[in-house]
Amino acid sequence: MKIRFMGTAAAEAIPALFCECDLCKRMRALGAAGVHTRSGAIIDDTLKLDFGPDTYHHMLASGLNFAWIHSVLITHSHEDHLDVDELSLRRGTFASILTTDKLMTVYGNERVGEMVQRLECEYFHFELLKPFETVKIEGYDVTPLEGVHCIDPNGSRYPVVHEGTTYFRSEQVFIYLIEKDGKSLLYAHDTARLTPRDMDYLSGKRLSLVSLDCTNGFLDVKWVGHMGAKDNIEIRHRMLENGAADESTIFVANHFSHNGYPGQKELEALLPGFVVAWDGLEIEF
Ligand SMILES: [Zn+2]
Ligand SMILES: [Zn+2]
Ligand SMILES: [Zn+2]
Repeated sequence: MKIRFMGTAAAEAIPALFCECDLCKRMRALGAAGVHTRSGAIIDDTLKLDFGPDTYHHMLASGLNFAWIHSVLITHSHEDHLDVDELSLRRGTFASILTTDKLMTVYGNERVGEMVQRLECEYFHFELLKPFETVKIEGYDVTPLEGVHCIDPNGSRYPVVHEGTTYFRSEQVFIYLIEKDGKSLLYAHDTARLTPRDMDYLSGKRLSLVSLDCTNGFLDVKWVGHMGAKDNIEIRHRMLENGAADESTIFVANHFSHNGYPGQKELEALLPGFVVAWDGLEIEF
């Protein structure tokens, strides 16, 4: 299995569009090496993970033919993970799709369904996923697990338990377990520390690769919805303990914000045992 990290930042990207903070100035001065675009990835050049506003750039940078992508897994509806207007350019006169299999299927939660169903046509289809129900997509076993994100303080739907407290979410956020031919990958963006249900489900799996949300970077943040370096280290420790991972598991920190990202080398120093992702990083496992 191979994963290509096409974009590795949160919604505002690095350097952020309008930002003059020290980090954004430093990253801007680095040119291409300092750029983290909005997050998204692809497995084996086939199975697309999220479809954010920088997807066009990801197509150019990867050299991949996106007309041949037939399956897209969406984690949640936030704009850095799903740009419906970009997806709509697959329809009508915007694209001549020559491959015989013209259909693209977008997989996700109810909210994602509401947003993309207006695109339904001969080229485009939406499929609703349920947490902890495995589906076969492109020969992969794909299981959506629950992400701790989109927390709604006044909400009463989509409960998750996070560090002993129950929170409600405005939508059913997914993190994805993807398995094929004895290899496995967990793509956990966006989420706070994984829930007990997730950890139970993953127990003993000895995953090949785990990509964890690191939006908060070096910051200690009180609000719930993302992870930072300390959370990544704690989750790695718990996964090694319950057998979700072992010493051969590749851990990746990904999805950075200019608020918590201290720079590549600086974050690597905070995350022993982790690969710190960058745009275009490919890992084969
Ligand atoms: Zn995000
Ligand atoms: Zn900034
Ligand atoms: Zn989000």
